[in-house]
Amino acid sequence: MHKGFQRSIAYYEQAVKVIPGGVNSPVRAFKSVEMNPVVLQRGEGSRVWDVDGNEYIDYICSWGPLILGHSHPSVVEAVKAAAEKGTSFGALTEIEVKMAQLVAEIVPSVEVVRMVNSGTEATMSALRLARAYTRRNKIVKFEGSYHGHSDSLLIKAGSGVATLGLPDSPGVPENTAQHTLTVPYNDLDSARVAFQKFGHDIAAVIVEPVAGNMGVVPPEPGFLEGLRRLTAHYGALLIFDEVMTGFRVDYHCAQGKYGVMPDLTTLGKVIGGGLPVGAYGGRREIMEMVAPTGPVYQAGTLSGNPLAMAAGYATLQELGKPGVYEQLEAKASRLEEGFRQNAEETGIPYHINRVGSMVCLFFTGERVVSYTQAKQSDTKRFARYFRLMLEQGILLPPSQFEGMFVSAAHSDEDIERTIEANRNALKQL
Ligand code: PLP
Repeated sequence: MHKGFQRSIAYYEQAVKVIPGGVNSPVRAFKSVEMNPVVLQRGEGSRVWDVDGNEYIDYICSWGPLILGHSHPSVVEAVKAAAEKGTSFGALTEIEVKMAQLVAEIVPSVEVVRMVNSGTEATMSALRLARAYTRRNKIVKFEGSYHGHSDSLLIKAGSGVATLGLPDSPGVPENTAQHTLTVPYNDLDSARVAFQKFGHDIAAVIVEPVAGNMGVVPPEPGFLEGLRRLTAHYGALLIFDEVMTGFRVDYHCAQGKYGVMPDLTTLGKVIGGGLPVGAYGGRREIMEMVAPTGPVYQAGTLSGNPLAMAAGYATLQELGKPGVYEQLEAKASRLEEGFRQNAEETGIPYHINRVGSMVCLFFTGERVVSYTQAKQSDTKRFARYFRLMLEQGILLPPSQFEGMFVSAAHSDEDIERTIEANRNALKQL
């Protein structure tokens, strides 16, 4: 029995007085599900508890980092041990070397890697490097993709195919936006047009190899391969933004899963095991342009922080154990199957996309291969669905345009309970 949201509401009322919109990242405000946010207090395994004492099976999982679930004992132990030895040094430490070695070993295209503090920093730095390496200015990104909030990447499409971008937010200078071209996801022809028009000045294509910020949208067969060929032909770099997909869709990331090698890779989320970490890496020859080896400046007081490295290292080691990804696949696939059966039974128009443990139920009958189709979804219906699930103890990401994250801590029983709640919710929609 749900205990209501009284205390959450009281905290939120205080929060809005001292934090913009009451939250430190916009999606946490639950605006798109037309609710006040739930204020969380504690997490363990697949569960979280809010300040009213409600328990939820959590599918936000910190928006991806918690692939092992909340407070995994190995991660907690590693962080405690690191904290006892010192929280930050601002000098090279052993764990940074071990972490870089491990990442280079796991991620197929990465030879050299630089740690930063967030996915935003990783993509921003990778773009600077790509521009310096190619001595070109423009970049190509895909509509509906999110790569963090740096100026060059907070850009929406101009009208028409492969036109110059427009700022997506006040504060982004127009002359910065002009260097970002936006084309539809999974649309190789549009990417080709962008190169035909501006190929001599395109430094890089940045792509989520599985789009995870418009719901979940897998790459169509040939899409990533086509981008690889196109960028190579024009002498531009291919950047895989694996902030979400890295160590999530496969131990060897999306590039390992699909067998397409980018020039640069950005990482975040799972790599920090729930602490603030991002990273960018790639071929030695490109990465050695970064300071202090090369002239491209990028730095960070807390980069490679020992607590964050310890959490990430422990997470990657757990993920390397046999069977982890097979179990994630089995649980997520059962969830997909259950949702599909429920939707068929209730006759609600739906489309489900799933890649490994990233799952998205769209409230549209159309196949979703790009942002245009994702936007056809009935977001009002999603908002009602979200609330019905929440009241049954299931915490979903509070937006139609975000995927659910299944973790290794979700039990078969959690999955069955979620499927049952989904059936109840769909019946009431
Ligand atoms: N790139 C992708 C694909 C993301 O999903 C995100 C965050 O959701 C980012 C970059 C930005 O990462 P951060 O929020 O750590 O700055």
